Amino acid sequence: MFEPKQDKKVLNIIERESQRQKSVLRLIPSENYVSKGVGDTLSSSFSNKYSEGYPKRRYYQGNENVDELETLAIERAKKLFKVPWANVQPYSGSIANAAVYFSLLKYNDVILGMGLNSGGHLTHGYPKITFSGKYFRSYSYSVDHSGFIDYDDLYKLALEHKPKLIISGASSYPRSTDFAKIGQIANEVNAYHMADISHIAGLVVGKMHQSPVKHVHIVTTTTHKTLRGPRGAMILVTEKGLQKDPDLPKNINKGVFPGMQGGPHENTIAGIAVCLKEATTLEFREYALQIVKNAQCLTTHLKEKGFNLVSGGTDNHLLLLNFSDTGIDAWLLAWALEFGGIIVNRNTIPNEPGSSFYPSGIRLGTPAVTSLGLKENDMERIGCWIAEISEITRKYQENAGPLDKKMRLQIKALLNKDSRIANIAKEVKDFVNLFFY
Ligand code: PLP
Repeated sequence: MFEPKQDKKVLNIIERESQRQKSVLRLIPSENYVSKGVGDTLSSSFSNKYSEGYPKRRYYQGNENVDELETLAIERAKKLFKVPWANVQPYSGSIANAAVYFSLLKYNDVILGMGLNSGGHLTHGYPKITFSGKYFRSYSYSVDHSGFIDYDDLYKLALEHKPKLIISGASSYPRSTDFAKIGQIANEVNAYHMADISHIAGLVVGKMHQSPVKHVHIVTTTTHKTLRGPRGAMILVTEKGLQKDPDLPKNINKGVFPGMQGGPHENTIAGIAVCLKEATTLEFREYALQIVKNAQCLTTHLKEKGFNLVSGGTDNHLLLLNFSDTGIDAWLLAWALEFGGIIVNRNTIPNEPGSSFYPSGIRLGTPAVTSLGLKENDMERIGCWIAEISEITRKYQENAGPLDKKMRLQIKALLNKDSRIANIAKEVKDFVNLFFY
């Protein structure tokens, strides 16, 4: 049997990443910790198998176990989300969206999705640099001045441009989405309505967010965010979708394979099957509730400390902090927080005055820390650390010249050496360690 020596270099990097994940507060809202059950599937023997095609219709032999596994994952997805049809093969959320678009649309057809600066995803029609904006004529609806989806704007754009597809769902929108309202607009202009619930799938399953299923034809979702599964995605067709177009399943299946992909990653599909079972439990309902409670608690503490939040708060798992006009550069702050053991991502905000690389926002979320077991009272502590590091960052910036690339790098180096930030990193590590046993 082929059994090479273990690759110490790679094992060493993996070990360091495991240690990193155990010593920092992971507040990136699209990340999580998978269960051991999910993690084990990824290195299982399904990693060795090719299985192009679908259950009972494969282009390779030796797929009896693969067929059983993929059918199980499909059945679990259908039951959990209450839909008549599912495809669990997409490698990721972006590919799932691409597969839907290329199944439904022709070159230059019109799509309408949420704008990137309002919280939408790159695959929802971002012009020039993504397939969704290059191959289709894309229009974007926005949030209003208070940071909530401007449904009137959406309606006006839909009437004007008659999109073939309306996309709801977002990547950095801290509020609930009214899928019913968008569904009515889609009906009126005879568009397909697809909800991309990548971020909120776990909240939908845990009944902490309205389900889109009654109001859309198609649902796409990643499986690795609030759903707490492996990195992958699913496409679901609803009853409403089947009524509008009975060929949706056939066309979407073709859109995934051979349209976008080759052999499915059945080891990932095994992980998806496991996470879908975990998501049926009462513990998962409690988990979803706690995610939202934690996000709201963190919001309260940060607002008390004077932070400005896009839309003034959150209904879901994420918060978007607005640092424009505060004397704090979000790029510098993201680094300062990392030096202090708090991992976030910088993000554009509505009417962004900066750029996508140097934006004015910081996006925070509670799914991963809630998986660790953090509760409301822990959010105050996190709020204090964030406030302290923000203040330190502001002071360094105040004493510096205009922020060009060189100056940013100089301040970053100072932040990396700051003794209070280094102490916070130790406090964070000790704190996070309490949740690993
Ligand atoms: N859709 C939404 C709403 C997302 O937030 C993301 C990722 O952040 C994606 C799609 C893309 O998922 P992936 O990174 O798996 O391609």
